[in-house]
Amino acid sequence: MTSSGDMVGLARSAVRALPRLSSELPSCAVDLSDNTNLWGAPPAALRVLRDAPPEALSRYPSVYSEPLHEAILRYVNLSRADGVGVVTGCGSDDVLDSTMRAFGAPGDRIVFSSPTFSMIPLLARLNGLDPVAIPLTNAFDVDAERIVDADAKITYLCAPNNPTATPVSRAAVEYVVANARGIVLLDEAYVEFAPEAFVQLVEQSERLIVARTFSKAFGLAGLRVGFGVGPIRLTRIVERARGPYKVSALAERAVLAVLDSTADGVDWVRAHAVLAIGNRDRLVTTLGQAGFDPVPSAANFVLVPTARALDIAQRMCARGVLVRSFTGLPLEIDALARTGGSALRIGVGPWDMMQTMLSVLAEVSA
Ligand code: PMP
Repeated sequence: MTSSGDMVGLARSAVRALPRLSSELPSCAVDLSDNTNLWGAPPAALRVLRDAPPEALSRYPSVYSEPLHEAILRYVNLSRADGVGVVTGCGSDDVLDSTMRAFGAPGDRIVFSSPTFSMIPLLARLNGLDPVAIPLTNAFDVDAERIVDADAKITYLCAPNNPTATPVSRAAVEYVVANARGIVLLDEAYVEFAPEAFVQLVEQSERLIVARTFSKAFGLAGLRVGFGVGPIRLTRIVERARGPYKVSALAERAVLAVLDSTADGVDWVRAHAVLAIGNRDRLVTTLGQAGFDPVPSAANFVLVPTARALDIAQRMCARGVLVRSFTGLPLEIDALARTGGSALRIGVGPWDMMQTMLSVLAEVSA
């Protein structure tokens, strides 16, 4: 019999080279590691899931989540009449992946800032793309000229950016959208916590696709739904690369209920985003008073550069609080060079969770 090692050798080298994402993150009583909505999920979604009829399980969903398209366009204040279309996906990961696959042939370049969302270099390699990382500026803004000068087929921007939580300036976004050669993929996963959104730019650009998610402010990470909006000619292409039936019927129903209802749906989402913003600002101030130097945040998490990030995160985990630690962040950025490229990323939630986290952080960093 042929050994399985030989069969593994048949796998595409781009796939073999990728790490399998660890599913063994320790479970902690207080989990501040993934920037989800720590207040929970909107009541409108919970109601739909509780009352779902049998056919929501026994029948296929719509092919491309068409029933969601109008509701999504209404939420982002755009209109099909202006030539804007929607592509949904199994999380926005799926939309990002499908966009890369739709436009990037193996060997094509994709450019993004560094640091940015950790899935981007992975998805790029999975799709055979050539990833080019350009460090953020010292002010944590996108280095728009260098990004454009990379002359890539696909340009990825993340506003606000993960893991820095920093906004991207309107000037940088507009420069990239105006001057990039190929597709601009703008990820607004955390836009509900940010001072401004750029999604309206899709009306004026033939190359811009804006990706968003129901996993963060909307509190629906477990349902796995994300979307992209852009010129309908582009979203239709991304749909072809994505394939059919990627959003389950239950997820489609729950998201539609949230977008269609006010008090229990989008108003719930907006009210909890306001709470997160308030707690985030209070957390940044409190961390500063405790001797840390957090990066000003425009999202629902805070990056705290510290040389001891790995050690602190491990000790916090042992005391029941999970935060993300990063090492190897780009040393070109002064605030990160000072800690040798190490930082903690802490999710923002109800203040009692923040207090638990702060006291554990004080304990382990004393
Ligand atoms: N974009 C960014 C910037 C993110 O941080 C994340 C999740 N961590 C995603 C996209 C993907 O989210 P999802 O697939 O749950 O929609």
